[in-house]
Amino acid sequence: MSPQKRIAILGAAESGVGAAILAQKHGYDVFVSDAGRIAEVYRQQLTQRNIAFEEGSHTWSLIGNAGEVIKSPGIPDKVEIIKKLKKQGTPVISEIEFAGRYTDAKKICITGTNGKSTTTLLTYHVLSKAGFNVGLAGNIGKSFAWQVAEENYDHYVIELSSFQLDGMYSFKADIGILLNITPDHLDRYEYSLQNYINSKFRILQNQTKNDAFIYCADDTLIETELLKLNPVAQCYPFSIHKEEGMSAFIKDNQIQLNIQNKLFTMSIFELALQGKHNLYNSMAAGVAARILDIRKEVIRDSFADFRNAEHRMEFVTTVHGVDFINDSKATNVNSAWFALESMQKPVIWIVGGIDKGNDYSMLTDLVKEKVKAIVCMGTDNKKIHDAFGNIIKDMADATSAEEAVAMAYKMSKKGDVVLLSPCCASFDLFKNYEDRGRQFKSAVRSL
Ligand code: ADP
Repeated sequence: MSPQKRIAILGAAESGVGAAILAQKHGYDVFVSDAGRIAEVYRQQLTQRNIAFEEGSHTWSLIGNAGEVIKSPGIPDKVEIIKKLKKQGTPVISEIEFAGRYTDAKKICITGTNGKSTTTLLTYHVLSKAGFNVGLAGNIGKSFAWQVAEENYDHYVIELSSFQLDGMYSFKADIGILLNITPDHLDRYEYSLQNYINSKFRILQNQTKNDAFIYCADDTLIETELLKLNPVAQCYPFSIHKEEGMSAFIKDNQIQLNIQNKLFTMSIFELALQGKHNLYNSMAAGVAARILDIRKEVIRDSFADFRNAEHRMEFVTTVHGVDFINDSKATNVNSAWFALESMQKPVIWIVGGIDKGNDYSMLTDLVKEKVKAIVCMGTDNKKIHDAFGNIIKDMADATSAEEAVAMAYKMSKKGDVVLLSPCCASFDLFKNYEDRGRQFKSAVRSL
């Protein structure tokens, strides 16, 4: 078999195994390699399908001879094997790029620093309710490649992280959505914000004038970059602050979508997703739906009955008049900003974990206005004490969700809200953000 027909896949989880299944279907000689342990469900899939694999290391002689390599988005470019592959000129692509070659379905692709999952799920919800034959893919659920191999959808709504975009070259989004850009993951971008911005803007690549680009016009980094780029696609900006020239905006507490001079309006109080950040997410999904000519009633119904995924501003319960909200997915300063901004009651804020180089200064005013007490939940809370110690008198430290919840409850009184919106990654005390959110909820429920 010629080297062009051999494909190596690095990382044997959802995206890697999906890519392996698709590659096998198209006659490739497939080899899967994972430097760690492969989860049982995925090992079984590979074994059942007679796909060759290894775990615990990457064997160069089995990988370096491939015509192309598909890399899991979790593997950084700086690891030795990727450097070696790139040096010898082997193309390294993402699973999304690979799967995009084997489907003619229309692709609605969503990226941004925050709000990707929420907007992807909402857009998918609207399309499903409108009766589209649609798949949900990307960072959520079953991988895109797996679905391209085994399903037959006409449309896909795809959540794209910057790491996936980095491995995409010929792929084209028929509708691209860019929600926002704030500094995140800079460790993967040589600490250059511009590199991260460039990565996000790959959402535009290969688009033609028949495609659509939906973006947030309130985001200064996006606006500045667009002045340089001048996209060829049809542009659909949305904003909370301006109206002129916008495809979606907010006026008199109504969300307004104005596509091809057809107006859709809906009271923001009827939206299932509350909070300013969710206005942006709803506008983005709404514009995509109108571009696809989805009826207004369907959009209205879907916006009203949508239920977001766990850990995103998720209301847990009320205990003796104190509300508890799980926003464990808020792993950076910007997402916690929107969480605090949307609070209507005095907040006891549970914050902390692994700091990704956070600058907390943008939260100072909001914390002064909304927060009455802070519980730091992490192994090293110094930066949080330094940032807020002089404005919040009531501060405590906890090293488990149970302890944090007990302390926050003790500090609260009827009419307060306890908000877990940590601003940080979770790996110091928890397996991941889901584990953190679940432990928080279980501690709340045992109060
Ligand atoms: P992502 O998939 O991009 O991580 P999610 O929809 O899972 O985004 O939300 C992650 C966190 O960001 C949650 O805490 C959520 O409340 C917050 N968030 C959601 N949408 C936005 C937005 N448009 N701008 C800022 N923060 C947001």
